[in-house]
Amino acid sequence: MTRLRVAIQKSGRLSDKSLDLLKSCGLSFARSKDKLFWYGRDFPVDVLLVRDDDIPRMLLDGVCELGIVGENIASEVMLERNSKKDLNCLRKLGFGRCRLSLAIPEELEITSLSELRGKRIATSYPALTRHLLEKLDLRTEIVELSGSVEIAPGLGTADAISDLVSTGTTLRANHLRELEVLFESEAALYGRVNGISEAKQQLLTRLLARLEGVMQARECKYVMLHAPREALEKITQLLPGVEHPSIMPLEGSDRIAIHAVCGEAVFWEHLEALKAVGASAILVLPVEKMLA
Ligand code: ATP
Ligand code: MG
Repeated sequence: MTRLRVAIQKSGRLSDKSLDLLKSCGLSFARSKDKLFWYGRDFPVDVLLVRDDDIPRMLLDGVCELGIVGENIASEVMLERNSKKDLNCLRKLGFGRCRLSLAIPEELEITSLSELRGKRIATSYPALTRHLLEKLDLRTEIVELSGSVEIAPGLGTADAISDLVSTGTTLRANHLRELEVLFESEAALYGRVNGISEAKQQLLTRLLARLEGVMQARECKYVMLHAPREALEKITQLLPGVEHPSIMPLEGSDRIAIHAVCGEAVFWEHLEALKAVGASAILVLPVEKMLA
């Protein structure tokens, strides 16, 4: 029987969310804690649990058809292997957001990247950093480190660093300051471009439709409210991402009930604006599943 394999990070920042996402798509697994392979029970997709750095290589080498990994790692490996077209970013997943930034010691009076010409940059992303800096026409010396990049300037092994940042706490703790964002990244589902059979492709299409539904449902909210009939047009305009709401009469009242699926985030400001044009009894509910 046709099955697909998806590689996810075994333990780290992407692990829980990757697994949650697969489960939301209706996948469940016969798993054992220490094993690196989980057999898919309800849907023919199995999971491989590996280090995130290995995921793009496993895809390129044909060990699996799918992988969930940060765009930073996928880009690094594609550049390292000079195979930019061999991995397909099938969908960005909205978690694992971070940026690859150029950071320098706080006390350095540098204001632009061009002042780093010829300097030593420590990084765990040598191919990506080199590529991005060369695109900016900046020749630097890359010092490759596998971890603890942020201590390199203090140790005198580099003048600046190119590292992943999300909040910036690590940079501040090491007396570094962010000079420029080089690359923005989030987790994405990647697939191999070549060598996948027709049957696997069909299974993949099914999985992607479910994934799309899950991702859309996460962004969507179901909104219910009561309003005076004459406010309908204003209310429709105020509901984020709604064109055609459902309208229902309210028994014994001249007000109406309006129900709508909002395709964009619903904030308190939206609710306040709705109330200001006469809406009452406003309810915002999560959408669990959606299939367009
Ligand atoms: P592994 O043992 O699997 O190699 P790791 O230590 O390389 O794990 P993590 O620190 O778990 O990896 O990060 C995994 C991914 O999470 C990164 O490649 C990146 O895409 C994303 N990420 C999000 N925020 C950050 C951050 N602040 N620092 C590092 N990575 C981040
Ligand atoms: Mg890693």
